[in-house]
Amino acid sequence: MADPRGFLTTPQQHPERRPVTERVQDWKEVYKPGGLLPIISKQAGRCMDCGIPFCHNGCPLGNIIPEWNDLVWKGDWEGASERLHATNNFPEFTGRLCPAPCETACVLGINQPPVTIKNVEVAIIDRAWEDGTVKPLPPERLSGRTVAVIGSGPSGLAAAQQLTRAGHTVAVYERADRIGGLLRYGIPEFKMEKRHLNRRIEQMRAEGTKFRPGMHIGVDLTGDALLARYDAIVLAVGSTKARDLEVPGRDLAGVHQAMDYLPYANKTCEGDYLTAPIDAFGKHVVVIGGGDTGADCLGTATRQGAASVTQLEIMPRPTDERPGHQPWPTYPMIFRVSSAHEENGERVYAVSTTEFVGDDNGRVQALKLTEVRFEGGRPVPVEGTEREIPADLVLLAMGFVGPERGNGLIDQLGLALDERGNIARDAEYATNVPGVFVAGDAGRGQSLIVWAIAEGRSAASSVDAYLSGTSTLPKPIPPTARQVTV
Ligand SMILES: Cc1cc2nc3c(=O)[nH]c(=O)nc-3n(C[C@H](O)[C@H](O)[C@H](O)COP(=O)(O)OP(=O)(O)OC[C@H]3O[C@@H](n4cnc5c(N)ncnc54)[C@H](O)[C@@H]3O)c2cc1C
Ligand code: SF4
Repeated sequence: MADPRGFLTTPQQHPERRPVTERVQDWKEVYKPGGLLPIISKQAGRCMDCGIPFCHNGCPLGNIIPEWNDLVWKGDWEGASERLHATNNFPEFTGRLCPAPCETACVLGINQPPVTIKNVEVAIIDRAWEDGTVKPLPPERLSGRTVAVIGSGPSGLAAAQQLTRAGHTVAVYERADRIGGLLRYGIPEFKMEKRHLNRRIEQMRAEGTKFRPGMHIGVDLTGDALLARYDAIVLAVGSTKARDLEVPGRDLAGVHQAMDYLPYANKTCEGDYLTAPIDAFGKHVVVIGGGDTGADCLGTATRQGAASVTQLEIMPRPTDERPGHQPWPTYPMIFRVSSAHEENGERVYAVSTTEFVGDDNGRVQALKLTEVRFEGGRPVPVEGTEREIPADLVLLAMGFVGPERGNGLIDQLGLALDERGNIARDAEYATNVPGVFVAGDAGRGQSLIVWAIAEGRSAASSVDAYLSGTSTLPKPIPPTARQVTV
């Protein structure tokens, strides 16, 4: 085990974030560069090697957390990186972006602050890249079988890497102009600098994966053509149809979906624009939706120089501590403060938007809202609480309802959908069309990067077995696996 007394002698410690006044002036990641390494070995040493490590179950990838904690504590960074890569293709993504359900399931967390697992994970992989130990792993032999992966988010990339390494010839098709899915154009640079993504894509290219950006399947290439060209297909097209808010004034200029706004900011960071076509500079910004996407809009608007940012949430404010009915080791709904919340903005809970108010030019200038209380699980307006707040830019960040229809892909392939509108699959990630599989948010519904990678790995195992008769690729989760919550 790691330090036998570490959990008694070492308090939990996180790396320092850069001062708010400094970091809102740029788009770089919020942590002080190099701030993690001096503390991380002792933090890893807090792992108790508790016998039944619930963190394994908390992590959808089944990361072997106590083993790499032990290796880090002993200074065997290369061994830790090997152990980490055995279960996770892209720890630099999860180590930065995962909400770390492993930590809320950590046994130490029953009566103390848990082990900072996610920080250990990112320290291991960042050091491995620095030390040059992350190498391309091309297959020794080719199978002669071809696979098309549609969508280049974390599920598509994980499936592609697994299948390429298993010897299949894999092409990843992406309709956007760059590879990466939401890692590229959803998640802002200040949460994960894109150099981490670019470096992985280069590794995958060196292993033999082919990338085809700018190819909209169903439009540029039909489903039939795809079926004729490839032995198997993995649909990793995400859950990109955004939930809308049908209230008066929705059509006013200045009211946008979050995913119409965030990609422009990311493209500006890539150097495609001098100023983002939808920009918050000098504006009163209202973000509707209290989740992570909303926080990403808040952090982006702050960096663009918004006059004010208000984030509205229909649900009541969660409690600061784990509520009694959400006991360890579940992933609790608690009040979380992201780096963007630390920087700026006001969060308003238990309110519902009733109308967008426009000026004479058809541009939004205000938003009407009312407070709500919940009756039988449904929000009910509280009489007499209606009010208007200034809003020059409104960003809808209310979640996603499933994969998009209408681009031909689902109809051309004749795919069945489940009752929630996601692409239906069986226990092997197979759709109703032979040879066509589905992974990630497209099958699961809107979720997290860690689930997308776990699904990509699992679907790759099924595809490999379909093409080769059997597979030794790992299969961390069945499609029905869900986070432990109440
Ligand atoms: C703004 C935002 C921030 C988020 N932040 C976090 C976070 O911090 N941590 C976290 O764990 N999760 C986060 N998530 C959720 C996470 O990003 C997703 O769960 C994850 O990316 C899903 O991966 P995926 O591979 O299934 O799909 P996606 O990443 O959505 O990728 C799907 C890709 O398929 C492409 N595509 C779709 N249709 C076609 C077609 N017909 N032809 C070709 N290409 C097509 C799309 O362009 C897209 O690039 C966030 C989500 C959003 C929207
Ligand atoms: S991927 Fe997420 S859940 Fe798994 S070990 Fe890393 S931070 Fe924890």
